[in-house]
Amino acid sequence: MDHLYCLRCNRELEAGQKSVAVFLFAQTVGVKPRQKSPAQRICFCPQCSVSLAMGPAPEGALNLAAWQMIRDIVGADPALTEAAWESLHGIEETLLPATGTTGALPRPGLYFEF
Ligand SMILES: [Zn+2]
Repeated sequence: MDHLYCLRCNRELEAGQKSVAVFLFAQTVGVKPRQKSPAQRICFCPQCSVSLAMGPAPEGALNLAAWQMIRDIVGADPALTEAAWESLHGIEETLLPATGTTGALPRPGLYFEF
């Protein structure tokens, strides 16, 4: 089985772990026989998904299209935000005790307003 890595932070994603996958393939239109590229699966861990969705719009039409899809999917369900929050909290407890720097991510249960 292939190991999946977050495209943004290169963290390894375990099977069944919460993440966002973007499937991408290209195909020709109006050309016979139809040509189709292999599909690529691009993955983002919860932290990067939420961070991307909350961040500014990226440069480039293709990046923008992917960003809008991630915003839709992250905004539709707080589960990813919760997962990102939990991971961040876990990291803080081990590395950064009581620094009060938890303002970067929204608290679970808050839906984004677009
Ligand atoms: Zn990541």
